[in-house]
Amino acid sequence: MNYRHAFHAGNFADVVKHALFCRLVRYLQRKDGAIRIYDTHAGPGLYDLAGEAATRTMEHAAGISALASAGERIREHPLFRDYWSIVAAEFSERRYPGSPLIARQLLRPQDRLSAYELHPEDAAQLKALFAGDPAVKAIALDGWLALGAHVPPKEKRGLVLVDPPFEKPGEVDDIGDALEKALARWRGGVFAVWYPVKRAAMVEALKERLRALAPGDLVVAEFLREPPTPAETLVGSGLAVVNPPYVFAEEAEAILSLLAPVLGRGNRATTTVKEWPGKAS
Ligand code: SAM
Repeated sequence: MNYRHAFHAGNFADVVKHALFCRLVRYLQRKDGAIRIYDTHAGPGLYDLAGEAATRTMEHAAGISALASAGERIREHPLFRDYWSIVAAEFSERRYPGSPLIARQLLRPQDRLSAYELHPEDAAQLKALFAGDPAVKAIALDGWLALGAHVPPKEKRGLVLVDPPFEKPGEVDDIGDALEKALARWRGGVFAVWYPVKRAAMVEALKERLRALAPGDLVVAEFLREPPTPAETLVGSGLAVVNPPYVFAEEAEAILSLLAPVLGRGNRATTTVKEWPGKAS
């Protein structure tokens, strides 16, 4: 396991992913009943933007730091308010919150979070971050195993964030196989899968697999900060949501359009939100 998210924390892809993630959680919280959030690849949960890893890459400069310098019209927009208020509290201390900490800040008293991380150091940090917090289970466990075995939650309603590192071949199969198992156990769960836009063939294979197994609708929101390159460098990212809330496609379009001038490279950002009606609808 070579991947460490500390080198990438707060980059453009994190901003897009976490802003969309907040909207998914808030939608599920429209009803009073408790929800469960699962974070299958959680990372350590909090990142030091002044630390060695972040300063080596400075990826946050074109991500959260760019958003912090953008006008209030964007940061205070109703679709960003939750995300920005959680992030701003950490950013003022030169830190960036990872997905499990963002999820924790969104929980209501009745909600719960289960966060999984396999890298020993990141898992230890994650556990320390949530030590003594009865609303959070931070577990050093393979997220793929958890996805196949720990759903459905007793709360019945909820959301799974699947955010693997994409560091080895075969990750599309890992995602597809784990989601297939999870959907067989929890047909009504909302599953949000993050992916990098780098290799077009991988992106197409992933969408194809998700389309084949999504019983409800599938919405895919993609943000490219610049056009694809022949060298297949990271130009963008996507979030594919199985069983999305009905407002998600519309909100995702608005969020991506607001972010395009802030996170795009030289005004070359493009955004797409695509919906596929499911077999069951
Ligand atoms: N979700 C985090 C966020 O948004 O702040 C970032 C997660 S990072 C992209 C992927 C993480 O997955 C890394 O911390 C890596 O150590 C961890 N990881 C890799 N393979 C795993 C597995 N099989 N189960 C759980 N975690 C894994």
